[in-house]
Amino acid sequence: MRSVSSDKSQTLFRTRLVALVLLLGAVCCICALSCAKDRSSKEKWHVERFYSLGTLCVIRSDIPDNSDIEKMVHEEEEAYSAFIPNSFVSRINESAGIAGVEVSAEFIGMIKKSIMLSKETGGAFNVMIGCASSLYRNEYGEFCKVPDDKSLDDLVKSGCLDPEDLVIDEIAGTVMLRRKGERIDLGGIAKGMIIDKVAEMLIRKGSKRFLINFGGDIRVFGDREYVIGIRDPESDSGGVSETVRIADKCIVTSGAYERNFEENGVFYHHIIDPKTCRPCVIRNKSVTVIHDDAVIADALATALFINPDLRDSLIRKFEGLEVIFI
Ligand code: AMP
Ligand code: MG
Repeated sequence: MRSVSSDKSQTLFRTRLVALVLLLGAVCCICALSCAKDRSSKEKWHVERFYSLGTLCVIRSDIPDNSDIEKMVHEEEEAYSAFIPNSFVSRINESAGIAGVEVSAEFIGMIKKSIMLSKETGGAFNVMIGCASSLYRNEYGEFCKVPDDKSLDDLVKSGCLDPEDLVIDEIAGTVMLRRKGERIDLGGIAKGMIIDKVAEMLIRKGSKRFLINFGGDIRVFGDREYVIGIRDPESDSGGVSETVRIADKCIVTSGAYERNFEENGVFYHHIIDPKTCRPCVIRNKSVTVIHDDAVIADALATALFINPDLRDSLIRKFEGLEVIFI
């Protein structure tokens, strides 16, 4: 449960409401232009929309009631968010350098995957980025603060971003950060992980076709191709830059247009280069990654936004990976 005061709850609610209204406009246009093939018009689709993970979540499927899935998504958010006081992530961060925190076996699996992805991307995606990303955020997790240069320079020198310091004890079922001040941030993969869980649940419920769209990160399933539009990062009205056809895959986009702000004429965005602990240099407007696994797609989109030169080596490492730079 969130332990915010009622004033804070109202602010949080208002912020979320504004975000939701904006997102309704944007996300509807971002992706999922249409389901390919004529038969889709004859088939009955059920649509669920709810707000979670800081974004609008939409599930289109042949299953009439997915309230159990919505419940699961909220529960997962409670485990993975760094802004919900009792989440696994918050407890691990608060106990850094002190003690291990007991977590679920599934959470341990995710931490192992995030360490693997941190290594495979040469540290561009870095699960330990929390000590830097948290400095740019307010207490609600909104990306709106400018840390002072000295804190960031100290952080770069501190060695607090070393994934080797994330210690897993599989027998005790605990995760621990070795040093005080270290923080994990799963914001770069949480959506992917939860999208994969939603897909598993839909398949278990007997779904034959679905399209999951969490703020533009998408997974499709069924005996058909889906036409997905990649948002034009420069369009305010949700225009599309390019379309792709995918079947039974995930498509995830990272870009500086998602969460950003300006202060004293400087543009700040939410994808942090672990080498500088500052928003990364923008070399592309967006990076879209297509893969079977939404967690891999999510992490690699973040990594490739930071370092597009990783493209060829990642394509060699991750079978079936497709990358689109805009
Ligand atoms: P995405 O929108 O999937 O590219 O993820 C961006 C989110 O991932 C940010 O809001 C942070 O929570 C987190 N993040 C930022 N920079 C990094 C990084 N270098 N490695 C891992 N996660 C990051
Ligand atoms: Mg990502």
